[in-house]
Amino acid sequence: MNVFGLTCKELADEMSRRYGKGIYHAAALYREVFKKGNTSFSEAPEFSRSISFTRQLNEDVRLPSCRITEKLEDGVTKFASLLGDGHSIESVIIPAQGRTTLCVSSQVGCRMGCRFCVTGGMGFLRSLTAEEIVWQVYAARFVLNCRIDNIVFMGMGEPLDNFENVMQAVLVMNDQRGLDIAFSHITISTSGHVDGIRRLAGFHLPRLRLAVSLNAAEDGLRSHLMPINRRFPLACLKKELQAFPLGRGGVIFVEYVLLKAINDSRDDAKRLAQYLEGLPVRVNVIAYNAGGSTTYAPPSPEEVLRFCGWLAEEKLFVCLRQPRGQSIMAACGQLGALLAEGIHGKV
Ligand code: SF4
Repeated sequence: MNVFGLTCKELADEMSRRYGKGIYHAAALYREVFKKGNTSFSEAPEFSRSISFTRQLNEDVRLPSCRITEKLEDGVTKFASLLGDGHSIESVIIPAQGRTTLCVSSQVGCRMGCRFCVTGGMGFLRSLTAEEIVWQVYAARFVLNCRIDNIVFMGMGEPLDNFENVMQAVLVMNDQRGLDIAFSHITISTSGHVDGIRRLAGFHLPRLRLAVSLNAAEDGLRSHLMPINRRFPLACLKKELQAFPLGRGGVIFVEYVLLKAINDSRDDAKRLAQYLEGLPVRVNVIAYNAGGSTTYAPPSPEEVLRFCGWLAEEKLFVCLRQPRGQSIMAACGQLGALLAEGIHGKV
């Protein structure tokens, strides 16, 4: 029985089928695991009275077999989880302005092949299960003892390329009897997977946040930087974004990784503004973190500010995101680098 991959209701159904128990026991089990981080739930009063049931549960409940290695810098923690099959994934904990955000991975590697991204260079190995995605939140909260306020799917992988498992993980994270993370505190970040955005729209979760990694507003350049643009060109992406159901006051977050002399000119800023015209967006600009790569160069701080100024002149709501954790390769597009260094589990 896979507690990390089930909502409390689904767990109750499973416990009813297996043991003839219902929501009372499911909620108790869920509370022990997700509220207290106690995976030896047999100590809970709801179970301790029945030794045979507790024994049965201990045999049946499957918990992810992950080990953790962590790296720290600048208040940012990047941790790698070694999965049961030997693959590894990375997650990043980023404290900022009194809140803590956890950046989770949805796949081992990624098949989108964005040229500026370390994960893209790894190729695609496999998608994560819902259980493995939820595990990252559990690990951050209860293994590394961090309060987690926000979740962003900006780690390894394209979340909409693993749609079912990502959405199941979102529902588990949101379950009030467990991790209780509001949809408005969860962001799905996509490279522009139009089919996935359409499916997400069909879920009718208007408070769930959507971010799109754009990085260029011209098909030639975007197809070069992000091959997914050949499958879903900019016009097709915009049509889907226009149709995306947002809650009242909701915006789509547009991520723009600034690459020196590639996408940082005045014309690039103008094209971006033209492309986004009519869409309720907030643009997050983040300077590229080269981290040893020589393919692209990061812009200087002055160039970043200049680009943000151009966007503001074009009346875009722009936010300059400070890359943090650069020396541990925890900045945008750099997950996967820790894996290349080798992983040494400690939990
Ligand atoms: S930027 Fe995102 S979608 Fe693109 S290769 Fe990297 S992980 Fe995949």
